[in-house]
Amino acid sequence: MQLSTKDNKSRRSCLSCLASLGLASVFSSTWGFGKANAGDPDSGAFGASDSTSAKAKDGIDNKAKAKSKSKDDGEIDYKAITNAEWKKRLTPQQYKVCREQGTERAYSGKYFDTKADGAYRCTCCDTVLFDSKEKFDSKTGWPSFWQPSDKKMVGESVDHLLGYPRTEVHCNKCDAHLGHVFDDAPQTPTGLRYCINSVCLEFVPRAKLEKAKD
Ligand SMILES: [Zn+2]
Repeated sequence: MQLSTKDNKSRRSCLSCLASLGLASVFSSTWGFGKANAGDPDSGAFGASDSTSAKAKDGIDNKAKAKSKSKDDGEIDYKAITNAEWKKRLTPQQYKVCREQGTERAYSGKYFDTKADGAYRCTCCDTVLFDSKEKFDSKTGWPSFWQPSDKKMVGESVDHLLGYPRTEVHCNKCDAHLGHVFDDAPQTPTGLRYCINSVCLEFVPRAKLEKAKD
C-alpha cells in the first residue's frame, strides 16, 4: 500500500481523535445507533431485538434463496444485488454500515473485545475475511486486525468522508464496506490496523469452520 507522509499523519489521528472528541458518538447518533449500551453487546448496540435478530436470520435464509442472481456456475453474484434487495436482507444497522459506509459507535460492537479462536466472515456474503490469530487489542473500541486472512478478498479505496483521505476497506466479493486501514500499529507484525465494524462481521468458532471444510 502506498502511503504518503501526509496521509499517514491523517490516518494516525483519525479514529483516536474521533473517539477522544466524542465525535464517533455524534456520527453514530446521527445514524441512529445512539441508544447502544457500550460494553454490553447483547443490550442493543445494533438494535439486536428479537425482531432484528429474526430479520438477520431471515437475511441469511434469503442468501440461499437468491437464485435469480446466480452466475452460470450456480455461485451467487453478490455484486449484482441491488440496494433495495440488500435492504431486505440486512438489518437497518447492517445496511447503513455495510452498504452506505456508516461507522458503528466505538465500544458498541459485539466483537471489539472478542478473543475467541475462529474466523470472521462478511455479514453480507459469508466470505472469510479475518482470523482471530491476526486480531489485536487496539484499544480503539473497534475490532482490529493486522492483516486480512486473504488479502485478495479485502479491497481498498480512498474516501474523504471526514474531510481528509482515509483508506477504506471492503469485501471484494460483495463490495460491503468493512471499515478503514491505518498504519498506526507498530506493535503488530505489519504495522497496520484494519479497523473493522463488528456489524460487518460474523464470527465463526474454529471448530465449526473445520467441520464445514469436511
Ligand atoms: Zn462480502
